[in-house]
Amino acid sequence: MIEYDTPVPTDTPPSLQFDRADFGAPASSRLFCTTCKQQVMQSYYTVGNRIVCASCHELHVDGGSELNRFLRAFAASLVIAIAGATVWWLIRTFLHFELALISIAIGVGVARAIIWGTYGRTNVFYQVFAVVMTYAGIVFNYVPDILGEVTLSQIDSHMVLVILSIAFRAPFLTGASNIIGILIIGFGLWEAWKLTRSGRAVVAGPFSISHAANV
Ligand SMILES: [Zn+2]
Repeated sequence: MIEYDTPVPTDTPPSLQFDRADFGAPASSRLFCTTCKQQVMQSYYTVGNRIVCASCHELHVDGGSELNRFLRAFAASLVIAIAGATVWWLIRTFLHFELALISIAIGVGVARAIIWGTYGRTNVFYQVFAVVMTYAGIVFNYVPDILGEVTLSQIDSHMVLVILSIAFRAPFLTGASNIIGILIIGFGLWEAWKLTRSGRAVVAGPFSISHAANV
């Protein structure tokens, strides 16, 4: 799916850039690429309202193959999902409280991982994917508890499916008593959906740093 207009070189950055360019004093001379986080040295481009450096701009325009972007997004979001689930499980097990707010952090983290993996080229598919991976990260935190109920010899491919099935239903198994938890999980899923929205990611540039310094 193509969501990018042909880059249009212009001397005037779009007005959207002005607040985004402010990374703290002295803001004007220090710009950072939102993709690779490196400081932009001479010129920069914009993709939607994000600043990218020249080399990341090439990837935004070219973007590699669809499969490459998907694998990157899948791997990165899986790492975030498992990390989030682990933190959640550790807090629940050792500090003895259910910190459902972690679901929001998982949602934000998964969305960022997918934006990174796709070089910012998200679409509705990746929005759905972000919601699924966020939910997976949330319910993975129940897997160690479910594993505690089975013996090693019981674990085969069928048992893995059963465990995942229980985990994915876990937030709803206690019914209305977990309504707050379900609501917070909903916020996490909403964050993942919202942050991966593609919008109209118009590519523009290059803009020179010296021009940005005068803004
Ligand atoms: Zn970059």
